[in-house]
Amino acid sequence: MANDRFGRDIHYLRISLTDRCNLRCVYCMPEDMKFRPRKELLQDDELLLLVRLFTELGFHKFRLTGGEPTLRSDIVEIVSRIAATPGVEDVAMTTNAVLLPRLAAPLAEAGLRRLNIHVDTFHPERLKKIMRFGSIDEIEAGIAAAEAAGLRPIKINCVVTRDYNDQDVTDLALRARERNWHVRFIELMPLGGGETAHVALAQFVPSRETKQRIEDALGRLVLVPGGHPSDESKNFRFADGKGGVIGFISPVSEPYCGSCNRMRLTADGKFHLCLLNDDELDVKKALRTGGGVPAVAAILARAVALKPTGHRLDEGVSTEERQMFQIGG
Ligand code: SAM
Repeated sequence: MANDRFGRDIHYLRISLTDRCNLRCVYCMPEDMKFRPRKELLQDDELLLLVRLFTELGFHKFRLTGGEPTLRSDIVEIVSRIAATPGVEDVAMTTNAVLLPRLAAPLAEAGLRRLNIHVDTFHPERLKKIMRFGSIDEIEAGIAAAEAAGLRPIKINCVVTRDYNDQDVTDLALRARERNWHVRFIELMPLGGGETAHVALAQFVPSRETKQRIEDALGRLVLVPGGHPSDESKNFRFADGKGGVIGFISPVSEPYCGSCNRMRLTADGKFHLCLLNDDELDVKKALRTGGGVPAVAAILARAVALKPTGHRLDEGVSTEERQMFQIGG
């Protein structure tokens, strides 16, 4: 078991498979993007070696993200190889669902267990404004494919952004109720210093405001007891017992760093120790400069040991070097 210096049991790795994305959410990515050359990204065998070494440290949960993980051309094979690695108990993915009509069934067959689908609104014009590319029809088709492939319950991630989609949170909560989804409303975080961080700071909506808006429209929400302490989402159900779970992820207004069990591996092979600061260790260099497995294993152990205890957003400190798509959300 990998315990860090604050006694946290760190057993969950988020792997960014690519920095590329087929959407351009305003708070995540500028519209005119230049992505990294593919040779700079970790290759399959490098990834698989790291997964194996992580399981030896006691990691058992893995989430594939990006950028958009389904853009990696051999994504089904990657899932299948990770799922078959001894010690891996759970392989999940965060995706915008656009490519799921083609991929949901093969991914489920390859061993994918869970899927978080990102959609900020089901209002067609506001979707264009906030996510820039993609359409409701594509995302709905992706959700339907995930459901048909048995990747249930459907978890929807919605990043609440003032004047872009905050007026749609009630509609999303209603869909959760009607379609028995787990919808999680996420607070915007200022990452990367530039235009996207500016949007995140200027359009921030605290979770308590989102919750109040939903309760005013749809009735009281009741806390679901017994959540795992490391669960980043505080989950609620409707007081009348009708379907769906409404979650709030509040890294800014209610940080949960003390129970964070996550490590992040960027697509270009760095351990990013905390989402909200710039500390990184270069594992790709260790993989490619011939130190062999012992050198890589030593970096993994060091990354766990150095994981910071908390972010310092309230002091204006965040990651300046990378945006969310370059870390893996
Ligand atoms: N492409 C996939 C997707 O859309 O879910 C996976 C990668 S995306 C970076 C993961 C999640 O991070 C998405 O739900 C996205 O909305 C969220 N995200 C991106 N930038 C963010 C920010 N500045 N604050 C909060 N969430 C953010």
